[in-house]
Amino acid sequence: MAKRVLTVILSLVLLLGCLPLAFAAEQQTGFGAYEHVFIIGIDGAGSFIQDGTTPNFNRIFADGAVNFRSRTEMITVSAQNWGSILSGVSYLKHGLTNNKAKKTERSHDTAYPTVFTLARQAFPDAELASYVNWDPINHGIIENDIDVTKHQNSDDEKLTEDICAYFNAGNAPKLFFVQYDSVDHVGHDEGSRSANYFKQIKTVDGYLGKVYDCIESNGLMENGLFIVVSDHGHMISGGHFGLTMRETMTTLAVKGKHIVSGSSMEKDTRNRDVAAITLYALGLARPSYLTAKIPDHLFSDVSGETRNWKNDVLDTILSSMAWVITLSTAFLR
Ligand SMILES: [Zn+2]
Repeated sequence: MAKRVLTVILSLVLLLGCLPLAFAAEQQTGFGAYEHVFIIGIDGAGSFIQDGTTPNFNRIFADGAVNFRSRTEMITVSAQNWGSILSGVSYLKHGLTNNKAKKTERSHDTAYPTVFTLARQAFPDAELASYVNWDPINHGIIENDIDVTKHQNSDDEKLTEDICAYFNAGNAPKLFFVQYDSVDHVGHDEGSRSANYFKQIKTVDGYLGKVYDCIESNGLMENGLFIVVSDHGHMISGGHFGLTMRETMTTLAVKGKHIVSGSSMEKDTRNRDVAAITLYALGLARPSYLTAKIPDHLFSDVSGETRNWKNDVLDTILSSMAWVITLSTAFLR
């Protein structure tokens, strides 16, 4: 009997000893848990990744969170949407257009800066980098006076090689942005039901796999957050500007520790939410003017955030009205 009592006591001691560990596991939080955030933008891909042949996207996000109903801005133009993805406010606030991004250099003293400026303010010495195909992003969206390493290549395949060379040289950026443009080009030429559009999505999926592997093999995913996002889709006939479902539904995919594996993040997700996700991951305070939020069921420690629509009433009204147009075109999807 004495032996049995001893066993019970020993078991209790072991159980109590494990409790602090269990408690520590519950305390894990995504806030500031990441050393690196990688945002990979695929221009013009909309939500069509879900219909394509994308083995690399599938393997990367097998244990990640993926949403194919992430809404664009209420105008499906590139600069308006990349501006929102990177700043967390609507295009009505940041005011960026393709023309403006081409012609006007942006500096950090703007009212609604990108996450690059916010990261720079918090991490004065950190490496920040942006590798794009479409140069207006580097010229007129991401600020030019905050020491961001910027690179442009008009060929997505060569851009991929440049990105891998950058990581293989030992660079470990706190924040890294990529924009691929070739899917958008084919979308304009042949539309979003064409064989070549999906062929190009498959090709860029290959580039995505290479970029991920270069980041991973250099040890940066251990504390890294990897995001794939799109700015808009394309109409069946090609082109984008309006609010049809083919244009306004986009991809948001996130992988990293503390991300809810297999989550679809469910409703009310916007592509501008990338800004909120990025700031949270890097442990940065989110400016009160944001209308980006952290989607439900993304980080294991965050749920039930509401979008602060009062910050942007016009966007709220337009978004509600636009939803009618989007839904009425669902049969075209
Ligand atoms: Zn675009």
